[in-house]
Amino acid sequence: MDYGAKVKTLRRVMRECRYYDSLGSLLMRDQWLELPERDMAYRQKMQGFFSGKQGELFHDKEVAQCAAFFENFDPANLATDLERGMVRYFLYLYKTRAKIPPEKLAQSSALTARAQALWREAHDKSDYALFKPVLKEMFELKTEIARSVDPNKPPMEVLADMCDEGISVETVDRLFGELRDGIVDLLGKIRSRGVDVDDACLRESFDKEELKRLVRHLAEGVGYPPERGEFYGEVLHPFSVSIGPSDARITTNYDSLQFGIFSTLHEAGHGLYSLNADADVVDHHLWGGHPGAFHESQSRFYENIVGRSREFWVHFYPRLQESFPHFKKVDLQTFYRAVNKVRPSLKRILADELTYSLHPIIRFEIEKAIFDGKTDFDRLPELWNDKYEEYLSLRPQNDREGLLQDMHWGGGYIGYFQSYTLGNLYGGQFRHAMLKTVPNVYEEIASGNFGPLNSWLTEHIHRHGRVYSPQDLLARATGETLKSGYFLDYLREKYKEIYKLPD
Ligand SMILES: [Zn+2]
Repeated sequence: MDYGAKVKTLRRVMRECRYYDSLGSLLMRDQWLELPERDMAYRQKMQGFFSGKQGELFHDKEVAQCAAFFENFDPANLATDLERGMVRYFLYLYKTRAKIPPEKLAQSSALTARAQALWREAHDKSDYALFKPVLKEMFELKTEIARSVDPNKPPMEVLADMCDEGISVETVDRLFGELRDGIVDLLGKIRSRGVDVDDACLRESFDKEELKRLVRHLAEGVGYPPERGEFYGEVLHPFSVSIGPSDARITTNYDSLQFGIFSTLHEAGHGLYSLNADADVVDHHLWGGHPGAFHESQSRFYENIVGRSREFWVHFYPRLQESFPHFKKVDLQTFYRAVNKVRPSLKRILADELTYSLHPIIRFEIEKAIFDGKTDFDRLPELWNDKYEEYLSLRPQNDREGLLQDMHWGGGYIGYFQSYTLGNLYGGQFRHAMLKTVPNVYEEIASGNFGPLNSWLTEHIHRHGRVYSPQDLLARATGETLKSGYFLDYLREKYKEIYKLPD
């Protein structure tokens, strides 16, 4: 097989692999929005079947030869960054996802269906004992899956890399240690300051239809194109899916004013990242952005670094006051402080911007302890509660408030939680780099001009899709490896002003 034929094989596999990803996104969207609960088990089997088919793309002889060829090929001999990117991403998939035997994927789907049902029952009865056996099975299966990918590495290492290409547990551990200590310290200072931020304005009743109009206005205001997505769904846990290069759909939730606004901005951020790849990048099947931490960095950028900034509301507050007249009695500063109020919570999805990062850190530490054999399943609730008490000074009173609070473990999401907090670190570093080249970006936002912000993010991140590895993309955008300091500095600066902290 000559070089040209190998590139052709590579392009075919990447294209078909992308089709399966798109199909998976469509199925997921349907599962979260419309699928009748009673059909869940059938759906899980079907998803397992298609995951297996996707894996099979990598299993024939021609593809194996292609992989062997490119593994020994000097990337410098490839003509373009796009080809290099395609080879790198192909080899990454070949060495990770494609190594999972199809029967393990089928087993995983069946187990997930069972675990979700048991989680629901355990959650409703607040009884961890009902969930414990299947949770143990889930971790055992994840261990087997990780071993099938790479038997020589600790399972957590393999799972983390499968979630965020190239990340190492050692790096996450170090960065999380620094971030955790920094946040706990800042939280202590805020508590001892004893300032009570008045957020009563956020709890007044509101018209849901008006909120729907407002969040649409905000998402479009930051650049989310309505013709390339939809505002169709309202769900308990908002999500977004990237189905095609011009099709990124977002959902939201209108239970509270605050949740409606910020979850929409979050999902719009995911959407923008997915949609803004260059035409060449689409042509090489590398659109959609890096999953995991990189995607979270973009969503959380629009949600917090932009959406919870004072400048954002300098521009949008009059519109909010128009939508909800009770805000006419509330000045901008009061509103700004209210949406940034630090309120440690037992639940991740209710967390404020400061303490949010601690929730995934706790989950990461516990998962690592399980995989490293440093805890057993009987002790998990106690370990969970101890960590909440240590970092957030809150102790869950029962399992439902504690480790049964969400369905993620039951849904098979193990070894991926670190992405949320890593996304914050990326975001802090991007903000720092952006301010160096576009120092007036926040002033522009205050006057309703999101062009400089979107141009910077598109130029440095969005347009490249998966062409560069996450580490390379970060280095190209910021000139550095991932640091905890930029995000911590951003938090310190922000909360010092809000809570009038001493130097
Ligand atoms: Zn997200």
